[in-house]
Amino acid sequence: MSGNKHSLWWSYGLSAAVVLITLLVVAWFAKDRVYDFFIQHMRDELQSRAITVDQAIKGPGISSANCKVLAISDPDMRVTIINTAGVVLCDSTADSTAMDNHGDRPEVSRALAGQKGAKIRFSTTLQTSMLYHAMPRYESGKITAAIRTALPLTSINDLLDQLYRQFLFLLLVMLAVICIAVVYSYRKVHHPLQEITDKANDMAQGDLNISIPDYDITEIAELGDMLNHMARQLNRLENLRQDFVANVSHELKTPVATIKGYVETLLDGSEHSPDDLDNFLRIVHKQNDRLADIVDDLLTLSRLESAPAAEILDLHEHDACDLLKSSADSCQARADAKGITFSLDCDSPMPVRIDYSLMTQAMVNLIDNAIKYSHPNTRISLSVDASGGQIHIGVCDQGPGIPEQHISRLFERFYRIDKSRSRRIGGTGLGLAIVKHIIQVHEGRVKVVNNRGAGCCFIIDLEQNT
Ligand code: ADP
Repeated sequence: MSGNKHSLWWSYGLSAAVVLITLLVVAWFAKDRVYDFFIQHMRDELQSRAITVDQAIKGPGISSANCKVLAISDPDMRVTIINTAGVVLCDSTADSTAMDNHGDRPEVSRALAGQKGAKIRFSTTLQTSMLYHAMPRYESGKITAAIRTALPLTSINDLLDQLYRQFLFLLLVMLAVICIAVVYSYRKVHHPLQEITDKANDMAQGDLNISIPDYDITEIAELGDMLNHMARQLNRLENLRQDFVANVSHELKTPVATIKGYVETLLDGSEHSPDDLDNFLRIVHKQNDRLADIVDDLLTLSRLESAPAAEILDLHEHDACDLLKSSADSCQARADAKGITFSLDCDSPMPVRIDYSLMTQAMVNLIDNAIKYSHPNTRISLSVDASGGQIHIGVCDQGPGIPEQHISRLFERFYRIDKSRSRRIGGTGLGLAIVKHIIQVHEGRVKVVNNRGAGCCFIIDLEQNT
């Protein structure tokens, strides 16, 4: 593996790491918030307990038993009452008579000065960290004592420890779940990907008979579908290519064999009459022309197929009437030889954007066919008209027409209705395939329809220039 490529594991690992790091960061911030929340909660509790104590001791006065009773509902809660001299009057968890002066305790001195507040401090009496809250007690408008309530921090620390342990456990469970999910999805994705890669490799090696099964992951199934489709297309193209090569070889074989045969006869040393010689050479000449025609047509086809239309076409605006007329002119001699006349029905100008020389070739192919397959002394009607933003060019003859069953394949390479007739009159079987290609690169359409009387019309539709 090179450069910026990396395996699926990498992406999975990264996602898992992001999830875990996010969890840890959230936990880190939550830790302080949770602690603050508990402390605030304790402060509220301590304050409300102090108020209750203040109200409860209004009547009976203060004694040690008093404090114990006041704290009884919560065994952790410590209640201490200290007079203005700092003497502890009562304490719920310790013997007040044995306790030293508490006037110097920060929360007590603040309360005796008329302020209330909370403080976390180590208790020398109980030997543990505690949260203290103290408030002044007023009698007849004067401060007579400080009421202190306290809770040990051990409970909150225990609680937090327990929370951390639970969180850690959750983290481990999540880690395990993520690992299982990662392994599961890796295998689920990796296996089909590997299989598709193998099949694509087979395809690259030339095996086009691959079939990729339908996977249950949509994206992978789509990829598989695409490759199956591609394999089918390539298969089809390969078949077409093989057919084409077979056809070309077959077409070339006859003239090559004929030429070889006659040249060998000429070279065999025996005497030949001048008439025979003339005859042999004419045949060789004709077969040679035929070979040249086939090669020319093949080159034209391959040029039309080799590059995008924009690169082949030399597009300019021309008059379709001119195009048709000059194409007919170049076929005039062959038409005359069969006593065939042209009629042209066209109202100039009919502007179209075309590659003039390619389009002339298409027209000549159609007009030549009309001459070749028509009966002698008939008429070929050439026409141009415009409708629906299109220009329609028609080449109609009075020949035999096209039997319906041949119409759909007529524009295929080497497709002929009557093979021997086509060859005899010098057809390569590529003329209409070339016409179709030329019209296609012009983004137009070509079709053939039989005339009701006799003969057929080849009609070309092109976008009209406005
Ligand atoms: P070819 O070189 O054989 O003429 P084309 O591709 O030009 O090859 O034409 C294919 C076949 O279509 C011809 O062999 C012929 O059978 C038929 N065809 C073409 N044009 C006409 C037409 N105007 N009238 C009757 N048949 C035609």
